[in-house]
Amino acid sequence: MNSSLNSIVGRLIEILGKEWVITDREMMESYLRDETPEPMRPKPTSAAVLVKPSSTKEVSQILKLSDEMRIPVFPVGGRTGLVGGSIPTKPGIILSLERMKKISIDRDNLMAVAEAGSTLGDLIKASEDAGLFFPPHPGDEGAQIGGLIATNAGGVRAVKYGVIRSYVKGIEAVLPSGEIITLGGKLLKNNTGYDLMQLIIGSEGTLCVVTKVVIKLHPKSPFTATLILPFPNRSEALKCAKKILLSDIVPLALEYVGLKEILMAAEHLNEEWPVQFGNAQLIITLTGTSEDELLSACEKISRISEEHNVGETVLAERKEEQEKILRVRSNIYTSLKPRMVDILDVTVPPSNLDALMGFVDEVSRRYGVYLPVYGHAGDGNLHIHIMQEEGKEMDYAEKVKREVYEACVRFGGVITGEHGIGKIRTEDIRLVLGKKELELMKEIKKLFDPNNILNPGAVFSKI
Ligand SMILES: Cc1cc2nc3c(=O)[nH]c(=O)nc-3n(C[C@H](O)[C@H](O)[C@H](O)COP(=O)(O)OP(=O)(O)OC[C@H]3O[C@@H](n4cnc5c(N)ncnc54)[C@H](O)[C@@H]3O)c2cc1C
Repeated sequence: MNSSLNSIVGRLIEILGKEWVITDREMMESYLRDETPEPMRPKPTSAAVLVKPSSTKEVSQILKLSDEMRIPVFPVGGRTGLVGGSIPTKPGIILSLERMKKISIDRDNLMAVAEAGSTLGDLIKASEDAGLFFPPHPGDEGAQIGGLIATNAGGVRAVKYGVIRSYVKGIEAVLPSGEIITLGGKLLKNNTGYDLMQLIIGSEGTLCVVTKVVIKLHPKSPFTATLILPFPNRSEALKCAKKILLSDIVPLALEYVGLKEILMAAEHLNEEWPVQFGNAQLIITLTGTSEDELLSACEKISRISEEHNVGETVLAERKEEQEKILRVRSNIYTSLKPRMVDILDVTVPPSNLDALMGFVDEVSRRYGVYLPVYGHAGDGNLHIHIMQEEGKEMDYAEKVKREVYEACVRFGGVITGEHGIGKIRTEDIRLVLGKKELELMKEIKKLFDPNNILNPGAVFSKI
């Protein structure tokens, strides 16, 4: 540990008690990495202190002290991020809110109030226990509410009601100065001044530490169904997806997967994937207030998909079967991870998905590398994986990434739809944002965090 860190430890112990100030490297090992593929993951600092406050007041005291001593603070959530956002890359304090995990449900207002350290899994369960529904499902249920807000997570169930941003109605947060701010509340309409709450959502731990969140819930849809539609090729699958979105059906989720990758994920989990044919598949989740409504939507989808040479469709009505399908889909990433160099998370206008995927195929042939692609077809958001090729130097990864990003921008898209910039896309951000846009963002950062103590190195490489 360096000397300024040494000198803060005693004061942190005064605030939190000895048990919650951890200096032992072994005990903080899992806080020094996230789920970013290893070849891309930033190297953590060798000097860090891990703290675990139990209240907003303690968070405030920690930040005030760190700001005074100019010591960097790295807020961490569940460490499921894919762009190294939470990794402490400079000597400093790792701030985990894992002890702050209270959730209360307000059925009358259809809202949850969750402390930032509660997990996605906790929120889904608490909502279900109260007979309500939290629709989004960004993959890993170990992600924490603070992390979901800080990354504005998306996931497979964003087509009908939107990404995390659409659910957040109130935020309590602590500024680097230690001041506590409260924005919004259990409100569905709020036009009081600039929307600072929306600015904080997606700010990747660089502006403030989120401590508590008010989240909109939905009544539980009594009827849900998941369809798996197998197509002979991608083009038919994507044309069909486009027509479904043009019809009056609004699916909760509309996913595109390749047969090879979904079978790998099923095998990885020791599960049987229900459809073993059809190179390109759509997974569609529907919700409805009556069985008739759901059946009518299924019939419409069936008619549309027949125009695109769909194979025999599977309809999962039982909750367990639907959960299995979601689990397998969510694990494509984990099954590919051991041989993965990078995971790209680009978004284009949905009508350009086919063209972008065609371009990725062409890049894959040209470089002779496997680039599996799947993703949220309903949102135009794709995950493109750059895989390791045996006997090949990995320097192709940067070139492949660059070509895909440039194509994506040409198609009217952006380099990230979900994962954010973190600490590994800080150079790529310029492909999307101009000089003025970046200047404005940096000025905002300075206003919130004049001493640049909060998550330095994330979003911008230099302030
Ligand atoms: C298998 C798998 C599937 C995934 N699927 C999806 C998906 O479908 N959609 C999607 O969007 N993402 C997905 N992800 C990525 C990841 O789960 C999300 O980015 C998630 O929101 C990160 O939450 P976390 O709590 O793990 O945050 P962390 O990884 O711990 O941190 C992420 C960022 O949030 C900041 N942060 C954390 N807590 C706070 C706080 N309290 N206040 C301020 N800043 C904070 C950190 O500093 C960091 O910059 C997936 C990841 C995995 C491993």
